[in-house]
Amino acid sequence: MNPITNAHTHLELTDLAHLCPTKPMSFVSWAGRLAWNLRGRSKTQVLAGIRRGIAELEACGTTQVGDITNTWLSVEPLIASNLQGIVYLEVIGHRRNQAFERLEQAKKKIRKTRKHPNYGAMQIGLSIHAPYSCHPDLLRAGAEWCHDENVPLCIHAAESPAETEFLVNGKLPAGRLATFLAKKLGILPDSAPGLRPIPYLAALGALDARPLLVHAVQVTDKDIALIADTGCAVVHCPRSNHRLACGRMPLERYLAAGVPVYLGTDSRTSSPDLDVQAEAEFAQHLHTGLVDSQKVTELIHQPL
Ligand SMILES: [Zn+2]
Repeated sequence: MNPITNAHTHLELTDLAHLCPTKPMSFVSWAGRLAWNLRGRSKTQVLAGIRRGIAELEACGTTQVGDITNTWLSVEPLIASNLQGIVYLEVIGHRRNQAFERLEQAKKKIRKTRKHPNYGAMQIGLSIHAPYSCHPDLLRAGAEWCHDENVPLCIHAAESPAETEFLVNGKLPAGRLATFLAKKLGILPDSAPGLRPIPYLAALGALDARPLLVHAVQVTDKDIALIADTGCAVVHCPRSNHRLACGRMPLERYLAAGVPVYLGTDSRTSSPDLDVQAEAEFAQHLHTGLVDSQKVTELIHQPL
């Protein structure tokens, strides 16, 4: 039987579904609101949301999922579920020592989880959040470790225009998000490398670990060629991209370049549901005249 694959979720955000915009809003405003609402959640609340998310995935026929967990709380419920796929432990931050401490903890948990008696159908991987939110050494070292240990890697990249603006010009968005980025993650204008997201990841060697690149909307033809040359796959989340005003991913150019493309709903904070078949329908409309609708449907039937 063909799998039904939702390649990008954050099940631990299911309890914050009320934050999902009903009409497009800027990524920066949305991320600021999300960061604010992450505070003060109890473990019980987060776990209840994860269980609801798993039930929703199973109810809409999903058989494989790629889930990112920053709290690391979705690992055990996913391994215990009927779903297959990969759960990625997220590391994030621009403060080098803290970031490396977290990376070491993630490595330990990944090694331990690989020995779990039920391990196999649901694999474990590492997520280094995004090129703008992580210290370059974290991106470099994390990707190298994944490459050497054959651990799946996932990175959000080239999602919003604000991300490229920051990486290329060091321009941080104004308002609540900038405060959060600086205080919580240590992101300052001088931490910008002066490169676009994909060439920056390539320069760090991070693409050599063949990460699953999530979003990959803000790309040039050269960026797509880099992704194709390194053999990375991308995840297309068109409903989230639409609601967060991130633009249209050039799906037809990825397919022409031979890049494997998955579909993902993203979390319930930027998607109305976790149904990847609804995501495919939205994608068919979005790329009308550019990508054959049957081709779009096929994207959800690939194993991770
Ligand atoms: Zn995401």
